[in-house]
Amino acid sequence: MPGKPFVYLDHAATSWPKAQGVAEAMSTFLAHEAGNPGRGGHALAQAAQRVMDEARAGLAKLINAESPDRMVLTYGCTDAINLAIHGVVSCARCSTGNPAGVVISSVEHNAVGRPAETHRCEGTAEVRLAQCDSEGFVTPEAVLEQCDEHTSLVCVTHSSNVLGTIQPIAEIGKSLRSQFPNTLFLIDAAQTVGVLPIDVRAMGVDLMAIGVHKGLRGPTGIGALYVGPRAYPDDGEPRIACCRQGGTGVLSRDLTMPPGLPSALEAGTPNTVGAAGVVAALKKTSLGSIDDERRLLFRVIERFQNDSRVTFFGPRDPNRRTAVLSMNIDGHDPRELATLLDSSFGLATRAGLLCSPLCHESIGTFPDGVLRISLGPQSTEEVVDAFCDALGAVLSATATTR
Ligand code: PLP
Repeated sequence: MPGKPFVYLDHAATSWPKAQGVAEAMSTFLAHEAGNPGRGGHALAQAAQRVMDEARAGLAKLINAESPDRMVLTYGCTDAINLAIHGVVSCARCSTGNPAGVVISSVEHNAVGRPAETHRCEGTAEVRLAQCDSEGFVTPEAVLEQCDEHTSLVCVTHSSNVLGTIQPIAEIGKSLRSQFPNTLFLIDAAQTVGVLPIDVRAMGVDLMAIGVHKGLRGPTGIGALYVGPRAYPDDGEPRIACCRQGGTGVLSRDLTMPPGLPSALEAGTPNTVGAAGVVAALKKTSLGSIDDERRLLFRVIERFQNDSRVTFFGPRDPNRRTAVLSMNIDGHDPRELATLLDSSFGLATRAGLLCSPLCHESIGTFPDGVLRISLGPQSTEEVVDAFCDALGAVLSATATTR
């Protein structure tokens, strides 16, 4: 948009700009290598297979998965969560004949809340909520309180897209394994992969849903589900069923899906162009500290903390949050405020429920939601100051019209 300032403060929705080299890698792949992987021995098919293998291996390394085959490539984080929830519920129901026990936290995104609610409505799962505290933390105790011996799946987001709260995943994982060893633990890592260090083995995680377009600064339309050995043993009965079937390029004479990972849970031609983008994005990923982004966000808090019209949400301890800051301004509807910030100041923020109604019910901001800013590695002091100045101007204008 020529002439109009554009200040991007919506990295939690998607990163912008993408990591250097991502667009080029995708267009080069599309022009020269875009065969159908696993579907032929010719050069193009092999080139596409190499890209898929490289993406899988890079993602596996990033989260310390046991092997690249445990990274099932999906069409995004939501798709990965759907595979996990529907797959585990289906398996649990088959083996017990009863609705599956599912526990989700009270800060979950609709990517978790809606599949869970679908099973609740259909009577295929009994769903319980593990309640967060006022800063959005979900403790191991809050999770364990909702579990019993029939709980097949617990799902907790690694970091809330509304509050930035980083959950104590390793502690929850450890308590679950010791008290409910048959329960699988699913993590929604939409907001944290490429941002925080992740070690699925050390964290006691069985399933992890990953998107690549936020913290990894990769393309949309591709993600992955990590499937750990307790969910899909090398030898033994899988505890996650395949909820989509189709061609895999291997064992084609069978009308059932191949037994081994990743093919057992992947069907159809994959997003190879996206995989080329993932490979390029991973080359630029350095899991440095996010202290700079946190410091910038606290600049906003410090500027307005004495103004009683501004309420900030989320953890007070900057080390326990990602670079997401939600707020409300007395007398302003968050969505109208976001529209004003965009149209008058060129600030791209996000407002409303942010696809997380459960979280807003927990913190008392339902149904209007909040105004959210979220930073990325390229965010600068100037960007944050532009936001502070605009908010200051809105507050002054409000004061004079009262
Ligand atoms: N989970 C959380 C916490 C998110 O913030 C998002 C996206 O905003 C998702 C899941 C879904 O990710 P996607 O829309 O990329 O599939």
